[in-house]
Amino acid sequence: MNVPLLDLKLQYATIQHEIEPVLLQIMSSQSLILGKEVEKLEKISADYCTTEYAIGVSSGTDALLMALMALHIGPGDEVIVPTYSFFATAGVVSRLNAIPVFTDVDPITLNITAKEIEQAITKHTKAIIVVHLYGQSADMDSIMSIANAHNIPVIEDCAQAIGTQTKDGRKVGSIGIMGCFSFYPTKNLGAFGDAGLITTQSKELYEHLVQMRNHGQIERYKHGFVGGNFRIDAMQAAVLSIKFPYLESWHTARRRNAELYTTLFCEVGLSQQSGLTIFDEYNKVLLPGIPNKSEDVHNHHIFNQFVIRVQYRNALRAFLNEQGIGTEIYYPIPFHKQPCFVHLPSSSNSFPVSDCASTDVLALPIFPELKENQIQHVVNVIVEFYQTKVFTLEKECKDCNCGCL
Ligand SMILES: *Cc1c(COP(=O)(O)O)cnc(C)c1O
Repeated sequence: MNVPLLDLKLQYATIQHEIEPVLLQIMSSQSLILGKEVEKLEKISADYCTTEYAIGVSSGTDALLMALMALHIGPGDEVIVPTYSFFATAGVVSRLNAIPVFTDVDPITLNITAKEIEQAITKHTKAIIVVHLYGQSADMDSIMSIANAHNIPVIEDCAQAIGTQTKDGRKVGSIGIMGCFSFYPTKNLGAFGDAGLITTQSKELYEHLVQMRNHGQIERYKHGFVGGNFRIDAMQAAVLSIKFPYLESWHTARRRNAELYTTLFCEVGLSQQSGLTIFDEYNKVLLPGIPNKSEDVHNHHIFNQFVIRVQYRNALRAFLNEQGIGTEIYYPIPFHKQPCFVHLPSSSNSFPVSDCASTDVLALPIFPELKENQIQHVVNVIVEFYQTKVFTLEKECKDCNCGCL
């Protein structure tokens, strides 16, 4: 049985009949960029994220870049980011000649924490980017109180987390000064290409970002400041508006899949409960914290990724691949070890949690259309690995220096 990491064709088959006529209509109209399809998406997105404003943009990366530009981040400014995230989170800081300052992350959620942020704040800190990694909200309450105490704006990187809520039920992207979203096809809400969005409660920022999206244009060919081409296409916006009503049901299906994995890993004896951080005889597979079932460190989760942590990760991944099961590693290299960032001052700090995570995380298939028997099969193959392979591999892993054994 093949189990791909993601199969976008299955979702498309369920909505093809709604999407095709709308795309055909846009093609005949030849109204291709911004316009009323984009306004519609912005309205739906702002309502969904419970923010006053939403601005459709070209990608999640550009959303982050624009958010920093709107805060006038520039040369010499420090921006605190977790060392463990997708590259864009730190890349946008460097593109503005500002300095990314890396922090380690929470051992259970792999999200940035208030404590790590507090230690990284200096008099040059101009912003903090919080990432809601894999679709689970960071602890925004404590992060916002540290940030507010120092008067530092917080940008939420919600690329993997659209619709996720904090412990007290607030939507991500509505808490920091701006929320940045990606509609890259693999996210829970995916476009048919690149697209992104920024949310904000501030009218002033909204108006500034709308102008920035179109080269800082005030009126035709008159430019108040230097922005960029950060526009979103009408076709992407239309696809996203059609998909939006299904989003909650897709989140629910992902959560159901995550619960099934959790139940099965416990039943087969590879794990005792979710949210543990130490491997032992009874916990060969560490499971992500499932919200509502565990303690307060676990905020809501939309499971953009279902990431387990395992010993002998690379060998397990190769074994799963041989059996036709798709997996991925998010992320194999933390920022402080990236060739383009190693020279930065904060890269020489120690990041034990992120270093360890980069050697033992493994994302399993979790997409909404996954079948129960496919999940069962993935777990069975992992059981087979630990029953048949692990002993011969012991030495190989002891030599890997990952620090987690
Ligand atoms: C996907 C992603 C981005 C970038 O989004 P793009 O639309 O691909 O530019 C930024 N941050 C995180 C955490 C992401 O997962």
